Amino acid sequence: MPNPAAHLPFYYGSISRSDAEEYLKLAGMSDGLFLLRQCLRSLGGYVLSIVQNLQFYHYPIERQLNGTYAVAGGKAHCGPEELCEFYSKDADGLCCTLRKPCNRPGGVGPQPGIFDSIRENMVREYIQQTWNLEGDALEQAIISQAPQVEKLIATTAHEKMVWYHGPISREQAESRLYSGAQPDGKFLMRESKEKNSYALSLVYGKTVYHYRIVQDKAGKYFIEDGTKFDTLWQLVEYLKLKPDGLIYYLKESTPNPSMTAAAAPVPPVHPSAMAPKKLTSQNSDGYTPDPTGIGNKTRILPMDTPCYESPYSDPEELKDKKLFLKRSNLIVDEVELGAGNFGCVRKGVYKMRKKQIDVAIKMLKSGNEKTAKEDMMREAYIMHQLDNPYIVRVIGLCEAEALMLVMEMASGGPLNKFLYSKRDEVPVNNVVELMHQVAIGMKFLEEKNFVHRDLAARNVLLVNQHYAKISDFGLSKALAADDSYYLAKTTGKWPLKWYAPECILFRKFSSKGDVWSYGVTMWEAFTYGQKPYKKMKGPEVIAFIEEGKRMECPPKCPPEMYKLMQQCWTFKWEDRPDFVAVETLIRTYYYSIAARTEEEPVTVKKTPA
Ligand code: ADP
Ligand code: MG
Repeated sequence: MPNPAAHLPFYYGSISRSDAEEYLKLAGMSDGLFLLRQCLRSLGGYVLSIVQNLQFYHYPIERQLNGTYAVAGGKAHCGPEELCEFYSKDADGLCCTLRKPCNRPGGVGPQPGIFDSIRENMVREYIQQTWNLEGDALEQAIISQAPQVEKLIATTAHEKMVWYHGPISREQAESRLYSGAQPDGKFLMRESKEKNSYALSLVYGKTVYHYRIVQDKAGKYFIEDGTKFDTLWQLVEYLKLKPDGLIYYLKESTPNPSMTAAAAPVPPVHPSAMAPKKLTSQNSDGYTPDPTGIGNKTRILPMDTPCYESPYSDPEELKDKKLFLKRSNLIVDEVELGAGNFGCVRKGVYKMRKKQIDVAIKMLKSGNEKTAKEDMMREAYIMHQLDNPYIVRVIGLCEAEALMLVMEMASGGPLNKFLYSKRDEVPVNNVVELMHQVAIGMKFLEEKNFVHRDLAARNVLLVNQHYAKISDFGLSKALAADDSYYLAKTTGKWPLKWYAPECILFRKFSSKGDVWSYGVTMWEAFTYGQKPYKKMKGPEVIAFIEEGKRMECPPKCPPEMYKLMQQCWTFKWEDRPDFVAVETLIRTYYYSIAARTEEEPVTVKKTPA
């Protein structure tokens, strides 16, 4: 996650108080001289260091639960930059106003914190181990869930540090510290027998001292009367800088002998976090009641759902993969999930070798003409080639009482309907998250040289509130390897309001045309399910676009997202961004808001027994 202060020239990253004072001295000690640094105690917090009257003042800035930033007792601001801006005009309780930024000397970048330098590897290893993913499934999980996973591991990161020895006894700790040289400040951390408590064992004057670390009600860690920290690794980093009540500061870690190579210890993820791959059932809102009973509802990540990976990712199941399915393995329910010209979509269950999966079955009305049947076969054939967590997968076709297209089930229904019905509950960040997932799916499609031709909010289906999949490949085409577009022979029953000018005017369909539709889909999403170009008819929309007009920014839509929509609606397809660019843009914005807002707790779930 990007640090919202990273771009500020007076931000120094993870430096100590005394280093901050050195920089301020070098810069001349004038009144109101200031710099910003990372807070070593609270996740996402900062410290403002100011000079006044040749004295140093250090003000911690906390990131609050709603994602705003504030100096204790001061006004809340949406980011560290805005906060500094405010205090440059009004001291509002500080020693003086911020007058002169103490910028970093040339060539000096912000000092990365301990977690900053290992987070990327940790996210990868964590996802790999926890959900047992590899290849594309792993890469897509990293891209789509990095902000959530980072929050999850920030609290378990100490388990990957060399000084963490797990649940060893006091005696074992002493014997490990007494072996070899015993310099002052040699230390280790261990888990103690009591629940949620740890101990720090420290050598001073050839004697080992033990300090108990406990958690307060808010979950912060502290040693009696000492400073409180969000995480155990922050406590250690802080105590390396000053004793804060201990007999000595932490100086030299005693490496845990059970950790392999010192450079990159393979993380023994905490057993409680080594969760089971999959949930067998879940609520469509994407939450399950918290098993710990604390009352929080915990959020399910896409990787926790059974439809993140292909049902054929298991090599045993892959043996049976065929386009045509046996009717005897299919149970068709009476429940109708939706309807279209072709017939209806029913709920069902498909029996595989080792498991049963929930499916949606598109049933072709009997008496339909031959072309309808061919269309459905074509749709099945296209979807069968696509395996991506953000695209509805086809299990196969079944020819029995009707021709049936069997797909993964996305029980949350179409995006436009979902957002409309939950318009008062779903925050705008949630919409960004879902549209980012659609961009990941579309980027995959673009890379595979497929054009969708019917991307719209009605064709984005939800698995749950935090997991979207692209569906309805009824109009899709696979482009030949050296073609960049598909030329439709005739105009058909087309969703004109979603189509780019070149599609309508020249019947030319490429991924760039899908990018235009993506822009319209974004507009539908950020209006929470409104109909685009309200009262206009298709031909009026074309005239409207040709005049250079575009739909307005939806009321709740962030300006960054409206800007992206407008880029998607670039008239000339040559100048329009492709999905690689679109996904990067929305990802950057999504990560930045995920860093700013405190979300619902994310925990790895245990499979119900
Ligand atoms: P059409 O070509 O008629 O638009 P769709 O493929 O969009 O057909 O499906 C129509 C409706 O059926 C969808 O809007 C949705 O409500 C339901 N549906 C389709 N596929 C699924 C699925 N995989 N899971 C759940 N519901 C689905
Ligand atoms: Mg549809």
